[in-house]
Amino acid sequence: MTAVCQKTIKSAIGCSGIGLHSGVDINMTLRPAPVGTGIVFTRVDQGNALLPAAHDLVSETQLGTTLRNVDGVNLGTVEHLMAALWGCEIDNLFVDVDGPEVPAMDGSAAPFVFLIECAGIAEQTAPRQALRVCRPVEVVAGEKRITLTPADDFSVDLVIDFDHPVISCQSSCFDGGPFAFKTEISRARTFGFADEVALLHAAGFARGGSLENAVVVVEDRVLNDGGLRYENEFARHKMLDCVGDLYLAGAPLLAHVDAHCPGHQLNNAALRALFASDQNWKLEPIVPAASSWPEMAAGAEA
Ligand SMILES: [Zn+2]
Repeated sequence: MTAVCQKTIKSAIGCSGIGLHSGVDINMTLRPAPVGTGIVFTRVDQGNALLPAAHDLVSETQLGTTLRNVDGVNLGTVEHLMAALWGCEIDNLFVDVDGPEVPAMDGSAAPFVFLIECAGIAEQTAPRQALRVCRPVEVVAGEKRITLTPADDFSVDLVIDFDHPVISCQSSCFDGGPFAFKTEISRARTFGFADEVALLHAAGFARGGSLENAVVVVEDRVLNDGGLRYENEFARHKMLDCVGDLYLAGAPLLAHVDAHCPGHQLNNAALRALFASDQNWKLEPIVPAASSWPEMAAGAEA
């Protein structure tokens, strides 16, 4: 049986940009990491505090996904980068950040995908592990609901239902392939409502938010000059968030995800419910997909 290998990037690469919530300029450097490292953030401005990308370090989920390590050091807005790492199938990476959150870039995952592709992707000498969901897991919170059901690959059906005429009810389906992620999901931007922005500013949030890094919605339209990137960009961004948040499991999931009105809190709750019992999951090496490697898939049955 030939397993799929773990991956990192070929060489270090960096970017800089404003933090969506802090409004400060932040530099970020991605560096190759050895087999078995996982994704590890470093706050280089906080004594090189380490924050592994782990679901149980998620501390806040109100306006993004924030990690907090055992020493109380935070790093916010990790979800769009995590989605890009899922889409590029990166297992091991050091991410150095000199501020309180990952830079917003354009509010989507596409700039991070571009960055990773510019650095190049390097195969490593150990098998890649997937996290198989063995039993259905469901979290319900009022109208919101997320279920993970056992499957041999990763797919998500997602529905959002906003009481707003510009968004209203939208759905997005994703079959889990990296190419599909790049073309169908990665460019979907975060969004906000103009009347909420003033309230967020007053509360000290979204200080870096602008038409450069978010879709801004008013009563009857979006304010951004170019309009939307996808007809259902709002649902696709929620998909992006869901993919990124679930990659905090530490490995790609083998599951079908059904998400109704999900948010960062619900996504994280799904992982906490999954990991609540050892019976719910198991790690296993990923074997090449039958469609792309038929001869190896045949051998894998032996
Ligand atoms: Zn988002």
